[in-house]
Amino acid sequence: MANITIETLTKRFDDVVAVDDVNVDIEDGEFLVLVGPSGCGKTTTLRMIAGLETPSDGEIRFGEQLMNYRTPQNRDVAMVFQDYALYPHMTVRGNMKFGLEEEPGFTDEEREQRVEEVAELLDISELLDRRPEELSGGQQQRVALGRAIVRDPEVFLMDEPLSNLDAKLRAQMRTELQQLQEQLGVTTVYVTHDQTEAMTMSDRMVVMNDGILQQVGEPLELYHEPNNVFVAEFIGEPSMNFLDGTYEDDGFVSEQLTYPFDARITEALDGVSPGSELRLGIRPEDVDLLESDAGSEDAVREDHTIEMNVTVVEPMGNENVVHLKFPDSSSTTEDLMAIVDGMRQIDAGTSVTVHIPPEAVHVFESASGDALHNRQLEYEGQAVRI
Ligand code: ATP
Repeated sequence: MANITIETLTKRFDDVVAVDDVNVDIEDGEFLVLVGPSGCGKTTTLRMIAGLETPSDGEIRFGEQLMNYRTPQNRDVAMVFQDYALYPHMTVRGNMKFGLEEEPGFTDEEREQRVEEVAELLDISELLDRRPEELSGGQQQRVALGRAIVRDPEVFLMDEPLSNLDAKLRAQMRTELQQLQEQLGVTTVYVTHDQTEAMTMSDRMVVMNDGILQQVGEPLELYHEPNNVFVAEFIGEPSMNFLDGTYEDDGFVSEQLTYPFDARITEALDGVSPGSELRLGIRPEDVDLLESDAGSEDAVREDHTIEMNVTVVEPMGNENVVHLKFPDSSSTTEDLMAIVDGMRQIDAGTSVTVHIPPEAVHVFESASGDALHNRQLEYEGQAVRI
């Protein structure tokens, strides 16, 4: 078992800075997911932990041991890749045993026994004498996992291992892999561009962009308390809504919307000068569409409501994704998206009263993208636990 310390880790390829001064402490037994868009530097980070790439700067330590100059074979890591990298001419048994070839001190009988134990754990015992070409994608993926597990390494490193599977199998394997990791208790670093995988599998996730670590934390922490616009937009599907405007009269003002802030937000914006450019954020599930006879006498609600046009309704069954535009909008796409219950009838082409609850809004500084205020996590007796 090992905790991993990554300090000021940097990788330059000529003039490209693929990984830029990344710092993160990974706990022993933790499932840490590196997530971000294509080219953000997650694979390069993983390859440096594996020893397949040499850092330009910084340190990688497993426990107290500096890893920078050790070969991959001397780091006690096992990797699982997207393309499984199974040997086509070997059986499943041969592929899994191969993972143990470089391990000293095992007799052939012990190797055989270990392979059979792991095959049982992964429910692939009946496949041991088949070759990779005789397996489905999901089965090949299990064999690749098995080959890593037989080695009983200090650290698992996984690079998009589920991305070749169809959506249903991927969802099933997500759960299985997460349970397996918990059972084995091996420190795991997992790379994906898929925020759903990151949210559902990780103990903590690291969001990267352009080689720079944006935020590290538990999934719900990142969802509800993003450090900046990038994290807020990257985590969550459909993505958070953003409106651009300025800070005026203790509120947010844009061409289409005047939105007074409550005291909690103005306190958080203490020091922000009037006229500063702000970005207001609200998650689609927090946007309320009021019934037509709702609360005009409710002054607080009134302050935070606006009439909008419904342009498109996407029925998902359990919910409807409603696309909304301001009446005089020049935008080619929607201005806001709302998620409402699937049983609720909302028609495209109609007008609705949209309520943006002040307890659920996020406020960002436009220039830097930094969060100035995040949503309240407790209101009206409801607690959002993170
Ligand atoms: P993806 O999800 O597409 O695999 P990623 O987040 O894993 O992306 P990396 O593969 O780490 O990104 O690449 C980060 C940056 O470093 C990219 O700009 C990439 O072009 C560059 N890069 C990666 N490997 C090399 C290399 N061997 N030589 C030059 N540039 C490289």
